[in-house]
Amino acid sequence: MSVSTGSAASANASTAESRVIEPLYAEVLRRNQGETEFHQAVREVLETLGPVLAARPEFVDARIVERLCEPERQLIFRVPWSDDNGDIHVNRGFRVEFSSSLGPYKGGLRFHPSVNLGIVKFLGFEQIFKNALTGMPIGGGKGGADFDPKGRSDAEIMRFCQSFMTELHRHLGEYTDVPAGDIGVGGREIGYLFGQYKRITNRYESGVLTGKGLGWGGAQARTEATGYGCVMFTSEMLRVRGESLEGRRIAVSGSGNVAVYAIEKAQQLGATVVTCSDSGGHVVDEKGIDLGLLKEIKERDRGRVSDYAERRGGSATFVPGKGPWTVPVDVALPCATQNELDEEDALALVRNGVKAVAEGANMPTSPGAVRVFQEAGVAFAPGKAANAGGVATSALEMQQNASRDSWSFAHTEARLEEIMRHIHDSCHTTAERYGSPGNYVVGANIAGFELVAEAMLAQGLI
Ligand code: GLU
Repeated sequence: MSVSTGSAASANASTAESRVIEPLYAEVLRRNQGETEFHQAVREVLETLGPVLAARPEFVDARIVERLCEPERQLIFRVPWSDDNGDIHVNRGFRVEFSSSLGPYKGGLRFHPSVNLGIVKFLGFEQIFKNALTGMPIGGGKGGADFDPKGRSDAEIMRFCQSFMTELHRHLGEYTDVPAGDIGVGGREIGYLFGQYKRITNRYESGVLTGKGLGWGGAQARTEATGYGCVMFTSEMLRVRGESLEGRRIAVSGSGNVAVYAIEKAQQLGATVVTCSDSGGHVVDEKGIDLGLLKEIKERDRGRVSDYAERRGGSATFVPGKGPWTVPVDVALPCATQNELDEEDALALVRNGVKAVAEGANMPTSPGAVRVFQEAGVAFAPGKAANAGGVATSALEMQQNASRDSWSFAHTEARLEEIMRHIHDSCHTTAERYGSPGNYVVGANIAGFELVAEAMLAQGLI
């Protein structure tokens, strides 16, 4: 493994690396065979921890890293349901309760056919550090099912959600574990999940799920928060370089919740988003994406970006089969899914003069692509920092539920902005403190890790 640090700390850091980190990573591989995304997420964090372990031997003595790599609890369960024709299906449900050092387990549910234990564990592991960075009292967890919602009727989605919650409810609670949405789980699904939880427990426990509807315990700006926060973080990265988003050309991948609201905030800040995508291909619109039309297609009609190109007419073209990374832009925001931007894509972006990249999705940039950006001096923000606005606003939703209050959109958005600035600054100063100025990967990992590690030390060997 390679650790890039400043010269002062590097000798100690590489000792910590060979003595602690390498055998530990080998053990993670041995113990979690075949879970490639989990290996990738763990490796990306471990590679950066050398300097902090060298500086804080008490973390090594208490085996903090080893304990963090093993989830506190992992649940796998059967989810049977019947479709509209009466045919029976069986899916697999997951909830990985990774760390409760800072608060109740918190993290989304993903419904997608690719979901397996390794993917849920990678997401849960990332969530620990992301949630710590927000400064809010939330632990880390993640869940989901290998259910494919594509083409399913509303009634089928409801039955699936009810069956999923019938098992999961016994593990949840506002002080225990608080899920929210992720890919394939939005406001509609949270509604059905909440309804079933309420029915089974006979409790109107608002704080047990976040991402609820505005009329029944949801928070203003939660829907917008992940995308908005990602653009706010990008704007901070550019600000410290003496630049801004105004007049910039931006590529956004994806066209789901994160992508749509990243586009909205980027446009509000005077940038032009010229491309977005889905699994079928990407659309290029030199006039800038017409957000009203995109929302209508994605949120109302649950359609595809190819429909966007058709309905937009002249200024937009649809390019089937590839991601949007060959379109020349100043800023790239990968907002679709893990490992969607590889080394070749990164080289194309760098050739076209990209200045900043911020991950709206979780781990969308492959390790090789991250290296390309860092070597080219591109400002690169990892998802656990750049997309933390979503879960941070979930914590604000929990806060409102606990106090039976509801805040205005403007107030909530201002809190989100404050939180994103705080995350940016703590990543920035931590990277500097540990000898890697400008390296947001090092900053995010160490800043998040320190908060969790301190709490683990204080709470004893549990
Ligand atoms: N799924 C989102 C994430 O990756 C949000 C989680 C939440 O709000 O609990 O952070």
